[in-house]
Amino acid sequence: MFERHDAHGYWIAEAGPPQPAPALESERTADVVVVGGGYTGLWTAWHIKRLHPEASVVVLEAERCGEGPSGRNGGFVNGLWFSLPTMRKHYGDRPAIEVARAAAESVAEIGSFCREQEVDAWYRPAGYLQVSTAPAWDDAWGPAEQSCRELGEPDACVTLDADEVRRRCASPIFRGAGFYAGGAAGGRRRRRHPPRGSRRGPSAARARSPPPHRRPTPRRG
Ligand SMILES: Cc1cc2nc3c(=O)[nH]c(=O)nc-3n(C[C@H](O)[C@H](O)[C@H](O)COP(=O)(O)OP(=O)(O)OC[C@H]3O[C@@H](n4cnc5c(N)ncnc54)[C@H](O)[C@@H]3O)c2cc1C
Repeated sequence: MFERHDAHGYWIAEAGPPQPAPALESERTADVVVVGGGYTGLWTAWHIKRLHPEASVVVLEAERCGEGPSGRNGGFVNGLWFSLPTMRKHYGDRPAIEVARAAAESVAEIGSFCREQEVDAWYRPAGYLQVSTAPAWDDAWGPAEQSCRELGEPDACVTLDADEVRRRCASPIFRGAGFYAGGAAGGRRRRRHPPRGSRRGPSAARARSPPPHRRPTPRRG
C-alpha cells in the first residue's frame, strides 16, 4: 500500500501540519521559559504547570511545535530492558535496575497521559520483539534476559520460539525472539502517532498556561 512520506515524515503527512503558534512580538516575563516545542520542551512545560499551577511558563519554538524529530520519529515507545547489561556494567546493578524500572514506568505513563488527556496518538501497549533472522543472532537477547532475571524482573524479557514469534508476526525468516513486555506501538494502524501526541501537547499545556510562541526570527542550527 502506498503511503505519503514527505520531508516531515509520514505522520505529519497523515495528520496534517501542526498549527503555527503566534509569534512573540514583544517582551514578556515568565517564571520559566522553555526553549523548543518538541517532546522535551512540551513535557517540561506540562509537568511544571502540573506541579506548580501558579507558575507562568512560556514555550519558545523556532518553527512549529512537534515538527522536528518529535513529529517524525519511528513512533516506538520503548523501555530500556535491552540496555540492562550495558547499564549494569557502567553504573552498577542498583542504578541500572532503577533506570530500567523508571523507563518501564514512563511507557505506561505515556499511555495514561494519552487516555486522560484524550490524545489520539494511536498508543498501543503491544510489547517489543527483538527477533533473530540468522543463527548468529539466535540468542542476541540472552544477556538482557539473564540480567532481568538476576535483578528481579524475570518477566521483563522472555525468549519466544519460532512458532510463538510467528503467532505475533508471521514472517518465515524469524527464528526466535526476545519479547520485552514493556513497549508500546501504534493502535489503529501501527505505532504511537508522534505528531498527534505532540500536537495535543501544546493544547494540553495551553489549558494550563499561556500558549507557545514562535521566535520572531527563526534559525535552525
Ligand atoms: C528518524 C528518527 C526516528 C526516531 N524514532 C524514535 C522512536 O521510535 N522512539 C523514540 O523514543 N525516539 C525516536 N527518535 C528520537 C526522538 O524523536 C527524539 O529523541 C525526540 O523527538 C527529541 O525530542 P526533543 O523535544 O528533545 O527535540 P526535538 O523534537 O528536536 O524538538 C526541539 C525543538 O526545538 C526547536 N528549537 C531548536 N532550537 C531552538 C531555538 N534556538 N529557539 C527556539 N526553538 C528551537 C526545534 O525547532 C524543535 O521543534 C527518533 C528520531 C529520529 C530522527
